Amino acid sequence: ATKASTAVTTDMSKRTVPTKLEEGEMPLNTYSNKAPFKAKVRSVEKITGPKATGETCHIIIETEGKIPFWEGQSYGVIPPGTKINSKGKEVPHGTRLYSIASSRYGDDFDGQTASLCVRRAVYVDPETGKEDPAKKGLCSNFLCDATPGTEISMTGPTGKVLLLPADANAPLICVATGTGIAPFRSFWRRCFIENVPSYKFTGLFWLFMGVANSDAKLYDEELQAIAKAYPGQFRLDYALSREQNNRKGGKMYIQDKVEEYADEIFDLLDNGAHMYFCGLKGMMPGIQDMLERVAKEKGLNYEEWVEGLKHKNQWHVEVY
Ligand code: FAD
Repeated sequence: ATKASTAVTTDMSKRTVPTKLEEGEMPLNTYSNKAPFKAKVRSVEKITGPKATGETCHIIIETEGKIPFWEGQSYGVIPPGTKINSKGKEVPHGTRLYSIASSRYGDDFDGQTASLCVRRAVYVDPETGKEDPAKKGLCSNFLCDATPGTEISMTGPTGKVLLLPADANAPLICVATGTGIAPFRSFWRRCFIENVPSYKFTGLFWLFMGVANSDAKLYDEELQAIAKAYPGQFRLDYALSREQNNRKGGKMYIQDKVEEYADEIFDLLDNGAHMYFCGLKGMMPGIQDMLERVAKEKGLNYEEWVEGLKHKNQWHVEVY
């Protein structure tokens, strides 16, 4: 019997993939809300530890290869059931977007599945400080509570902001908080774990990952295995806000960790690196303030610097 695939692999052999999925244009909106794709859940695995702030699950979906996508894209999921809209009419729930966490070949490298990395949205009552289950997030809890065989309605794929550059030599600087790591997992699998003859990654892959504590790390075993196998090509830096302090003695947030390497990052970007940001909206102001400060110290105009990078398609932001 074949062992069920799990959220992490530490086997660093390059997997053979059906390269037919390299052909053609990038798929976009193959399935709409009106005619979603019905898939089945294969597995749901909780990937956060007991002391994590919140619960995140790795969900493998059986797509049978019928809803193809490229790394960096998202799927829509329509939670089951209906709601009453503002006009008093019973309508289906709205679509929620989830970054696809596997490469186009899926976690079994056969193009028959796709994976999501979903954090349960919970509601904590500000008055009592207690969770109110009546107000928990609909779609994220549906997905994390799904069992093998659960049917899910999917739309997409969507998104063209977080695509990999065509130049397989360009350094990739990926900055994630929480489930923002999902698209980067699709990247690192393509870069390091798959044998794609038309995409031989030769650049530097640098991942900055911000979470609250060690138990909230995601896919860490796999990342450690890549770091070990590709010491010259892969760098991994964590910002653990509740375990580490920044240089000023405060909490170590993602921007503080990136700032430690600001000189190197500015040089890499000067030389054609691509910088990606994914995670909660709240991560960007702190990062922007830090970059603006660093740019100023270097005698650069921040706005012009960022505009230049955007113009050259080196700057990729998808936050939610
Ligand atoms: P909803 O039911 O939509 O509720 C939203 C929030 O409101 C929840 O926090 C809920 O607790 C709260 N709430 C509900 N009822 C009440 C009430 N009565 N009063 C007050 N508050 C209430 N998420 C991921 O986990 N992983 C991803 O990879 C990911 N990728 C994304 C990519 C993109 C491009 C975008 C736009 C979003 C992405 N998201 C991702 C977020 C995701 O789309 C959903 O927004 C998220 O899962 C919450 O949806 P939900 O249906 O669970 O919550």
